[in-house]
Amino acid sequence: MTKERSEMAAAVADDVMLDPRHPPEVRETLALDAMLDLRHPIKMAAAEFAAESLTDSGVEGFDAGRWAMAAEFGVQGSMIPAEYGGFGRTAVEAALIFEGLGLGTADNGFVFALASQTFAIQRALITAGSERQKRRWLPSLASGTAIGCFAMSEPDAGSDTGAISTIAEPQADGHYLINGTKAWATLSPVADVIIVFATTDPSKGHWGIAGFILESSRVGIEIGATQRKMGMNSCPFAEVRFTDCVAGPDDLLGSLGAGGSIFSSAVEAERAFLYAAQMGSMERILNLSIERARRRHAYGRPIGSFQAISHKVAEMKLRHESARLLIYKAAELYDRGESMTMAGALAKLQTSEMAVQSALDSMRIHGAEGYTTAGPVEAELRDAIGGLAYSGTSEIARNLVARLLHVDRPYRSISSG
Ligand SMILES: Cc1cc2nc3c(=O)[nH]c(=O)nc-3n(C[C@H](O)[C@H](O)[C@H](O)COP(=O)(O)OP(=O)(O)OC[C@H]3O[C@@H](n4cnc5c(N)ncnc54)[C@H](O)[C@@H]3O)c2cc1C
Repeated sequence: MTKERSEMAAAVADDVMLDPRHPPEVRETLALDAMLDLRHPIKMAAAEFAAESLTDSGVEGFDAGRWAMAAEFGVQGSMIPAEYGGFGRTAVEAALIFEGLGLGTADNGFVFALASQTFAIQRALITAGSERQKRRWLPSLASGTAIGCFAMSEPDAGSDTGAISTIAEPQADGHYLINGTKAWATLSPVADVIIVFATTDPSKGHWGIAGFILESSRVGIEIGATQRKMGMNSCPFAEVRFTDCVAGPDDLLGSLGAGGSIFSSAVEAERAFLYAAQMGSMERILNLSIERARRRHAYGRPIGSFQAISHKVAEMKLRHESARLLIYKAAELYDRGESMTMAGALAKLQTSEMAVQSALDSMRIHGAEGYTTAGPVEAELRDAIGGLAYSGTSEIARNLVARLLHVDRPYRSISSG
């Protein structure tokens, strides 16, 4: 990192971003500012950093050098409390950072990796970890010298987490013997620490699940080969296999049987905020599309003068802005300590579904160039499609919204009595 870059990072950390010590009246305007200001200084600082440092590294797959630069800028430490080496930022601030990263670089996989680190792994550890576990891992996660992964999904159990078959068998001496296979664990090929969810009692479903935090080098843990996917290949994922892996009571995350709830609350935060990065990338794709619509001519006029094209751009703008509003609403509710289950599910749904639509529209606007791998948008579409599955599928998010609206309850007329 250059001297100027370090200075900028320091300026962002000290001046622009609010820290928890700032008075509440200053903090209260932040979500509103984030919603109203498309060029919010926190977002633009992150966008500038991403454009300069997280673009075109030429490295195939995961780039450890960039991970270190992002940590130096303060990304991984953004939501880690100051006493554990982080910046203790609020969810609104973190969303602004990730919106900026998504805007600044087309490397969606790398930004997704950073977001998954910040909003899934760290959240679970911060909310449920023991003091010893937090001291052991949070400072190195903040400084980027350690990388974590979060392993719940299995080859035969994704959405239905209560059906996981990885077992943590309690032993007479108080230890647990973990056996089973986890799938698609983001960053597992480069992870130093793994949060794994396993059942200690399959008959209890969700309530039989326990979380464990283990160093990846522990005997009995094997990381599979990196699986190629449709997009985001700078963020590797793989299977994680456990064979008679011994975990002690100190490795337990929270209490026995709390794993399902720890997972649900981490995913609730992840569902909303991880998509801030994708929302930022929607703005980048919108900008690319506007440029193309103005630059490209057909029948003697810019294609942007055809209503069929200009309306696509208008729809892209609407999708992006509505995703922004939902994400900052969820973030503000989270920062206030209020329930954000509905807002988070809506934010995830709107962003992930609309990002795919906008990337597809951008491809149409770019014509054949949009279909070539040398062009700027085909990778955007492949990357965007991942958002339909990670942090839970759209169908599961819709189920959640419908459940919160009590759609399935029997009808009773309120005027009948
Ligand atoms: C890029 C990426 C990164 C990921 N990273 C991680 C990670 O770090 N850690 C981790 O544990 N997992 C990770 N996952 C896995 C992800 O959490 C799962 O893909 C997701 O939960 C869905 O599970 P599944 O793929 O097994 O689909 P399934 O659960 O098999 O679902 C298949 C289809 O059935 C639908 N369906 C299932 N149940 C219902 C229902 N009740 N109602 C309506 N429709 C339903 C689904 O919506 C989907 O369309 C990642 C996935 C991706 C794509």
